[in-house]
Amino acid sequence: MTEVNERSQPGFDLSTPVQYVKGVGPARARTFARLGVETVGDLLEYFPRDWNFLPAPTKIGRLQPNEKVTIIGMIESTDYQSYRRHPMFEALISDQTGVCRILWFHGGFLRDQLEPGQIIMVSGKVTQYKHQLQLTNPKFLVLEAEHEKSPEHFSGGVYPACKGLSSGQIKKIIGRVREAADQLVPEFYDKPFLKQANLISRKEAFAWIHMPPDEKKLAQAKRRLKYDELFLMQLGLALRRHKVQHFSVAAECPCTDEIDSRIRRRFPFLLTEDQNECIAEISADMGRSQPMNRLLQGDVGSGKTVVALYAALLAVANKMQVAIMAPTEILAGQHFLSIERYLKNSNVERILITGGLAGQNRSEVLDKTKSGAIDIVVGTVALLQADIEFQNLGLVVIDEQHKFGVHQRAQLRKDATPHCLVMTATPIPRTLAMTAFGDLDVSIIKHSPPGRGAVVTRWVDRRHRQKAYGFIRERLKAGKQAYFVYPRITALEQAGDVEAARDGWKYLSEKVFPDFSVELLHGQMPSARKQQIASQFRRGRINVLVSTVVVEVGIDVPNATIMVVEGADRFGLAQLHQLRGRVGRSQAKSYCLLFAETESETAASRLEIMTRSNDGFEIAEHDLRLRGPGEMFSTRQHGLPDLKIANIVDDFDLLVAARRNAFELVSQDPMLVKAEHKNIRRALLAKFGDALGLADVA
Ligand code: ADP
Ligand code: MG
Repeated sequence: MTEVNERSQPGFDLSTPVQYVKGVGPARARTFARLGVETVGDLLEYFPRDWNFLPAPTKIGRLQPNEKVTIIGMIESTDYQSYRRHPMFEALISDQTGVCRILWFHGGFLRDQLEPGQIIMVSGKVTQYKHQLQLTNPKFLVLEAEHEKSPEHFSGGVYPACKGLSSGQIKKIIGRVREAADQLVPEFYDKPFLKQANLISRKEAFAWIHMPPDEKKLAQAKRRLKYDELFLMQLGLALRRHKVQHFSVAAECPCTDEIDSRIRRRFPFLLTEDQNECIAEISADMGRSQPMNRLLQGDVGSGKTVVALYAALLAVANKMQVAIMAPTEILAGQHFLSIERYLKNSNVERILITGGLAGQNRSEVLDKTKSGAIDIVVGTVALLQADIEFQNLGLVVIDEQHKFGVHQRAQLRKDATPHCLVMTATPIPRTLAMTAFGDLDVSIIKHSPPGRGAVVTRWVDRRHRQKAYGFIRERLKAGKQAYFVYPRITALEQAGDVEAARDGWKYLSEKVFPDFSVELLHGQMPSARKQQIASQFRRGRINVLVSTVVVEVGIDVPNATIMVVEGADRFGLAQLHQLRGRVGRSQAKSYCLLFAETESETAASRLEIMTRSNDGFEIAEHDLRLRGPGEMFSTRQHGLPDLKIANIVDDFDLLVAARRNAFELVSQDPMLVKAEHKNIRRALLAKFGDALGLADVA
């Protein structure tokens, strides 16, 4: 192992392997690697999970009632009184100045840990009992050796540990690099900014986060480090966006009044205020030579497709081609159908490309696309990305439907730069819109078109099931249709789900609704059969459609006014909200019945919010809170580093400030070449590496 002089730390920088820190070496370096710590920089950012603030040790002879104290002494004797109503573990400890009684109620487990002769440190409040001073239920630590007696050892950070590396050992090792923090973490900002933003220095922040003198300083350290972390992330996003906007060129597709009214004539209704606002934003984008990168959000049925078609026709009016991509063939087919409806008798050339398209037909279509003879191509993401060439692709519309899309965007950026519009029916909470999607512009359709009935949502438990069936029967008799959806287990449709749906279908068709047409639809059916069932349901030939969740996506039947979700506790909030979006598509009142029994508080809380709110954004925020951003969304997917200390939900205000400052900085010094930005630039590169292609920005 390489010994390094502890005080001078020669040659240390943030990328120095942790192995070269005194006290580490190759074996411990491997253990550190398991904790995700490879370098000195990782070590400095290996933040404690908790902190202790213990008073400095007091001699036993000096104890006063009601004081919070820390004492260190030797265990003289122990005793466990199990026969009492409140079993009690007792130890007498002594130092040179006296003896003190320590009590732990229900302390039976301590029999294995504490024994006479040990040196122990305890910390708690002094109480008086029959003229004797004692400590009750204090924190304690058995000291293994004399030299561990310093109070530093007990206060400060508590680190996530693992086998082979205790929190105490980690602390000692971090202590060694902490001393070098002055050089390792140079300041980002000038004094006036720090003062105005109420931030302490970086140097202090790193020192205090690991060994805070008091709670207030700990809070200041956290605040600064969170700010920096969010700031660097936002800076990465701002640079990525700047790069896309300034280093790539898109075809300008200006909108004239004539084009506008020609497009609007295609729609048999007036566009809503929200739709018009989104269209205005999109036209402004498309009129520029910088590629549009816009996310269009809105619940299912809010009228996104219409907005997207407007954009498509605007591109076509400017002699550009358009690719419209959906995640599945069913959805692609549906987009194509609705486009057909709007474009009846139009001379816009459009085509649906499916997996079934083969041979002569296929090569004909590909040739026509390549020559520019086709204006709008609709297909799945997979198909359109495979081998299709365009003559002059001006706009790409991606319907992500229910996912947060990642890969598509990444891939699309690759070649020339068409304008890009991503549609999603999953409302993205503000926090995620500023982070994971922070380099996109966002347009939102908040209010659905008029003429939609209210959806009443109820959580139904076992006791009320029969009553619910009776209620559904009445609606079916009145000519309405119903969905029954069964849970899925993973992202993919599993055999188990199909089984559950199949059993449900049997039960419903034989026992509950024998006099109605009940059909099963699931993802493992042949595509033709799926289409057939979907179309029969659409035409009202099927009363009850039983399905797993995957295939259900994309069916639009206004006459279906009942959505039953079986095992609703097993669905995420976003998913429940999507499912509910299948009903409420006509003037008639609709019902969403969530069948669930659950002991889980989280599941119950999800079901309750569903019965309370119809607002997708409110539900998404709630979801984010329940699940945490990590689970909902991994920033890694976007090439952003994971957050170590900041939390985009809890630290929303800091996030907003960091974002504003980061974008401001990039607008002033987009290459970060000014001398005063050197340290920021270096930290940014260390953090993102190649993920943002920053190297070439340099
Ligand atoms: P989304 O793509 O967001 O799910 P769509 O664009 O498919 O929504 O619209 C859903 C339904 O609402 C469609 O039947 C569409 O014809 C209708 N629609 C869209 N915009 C309007 C509007 N402004 N006024 C009335 N109906 C509309
Ligand atoms: Mg749609």
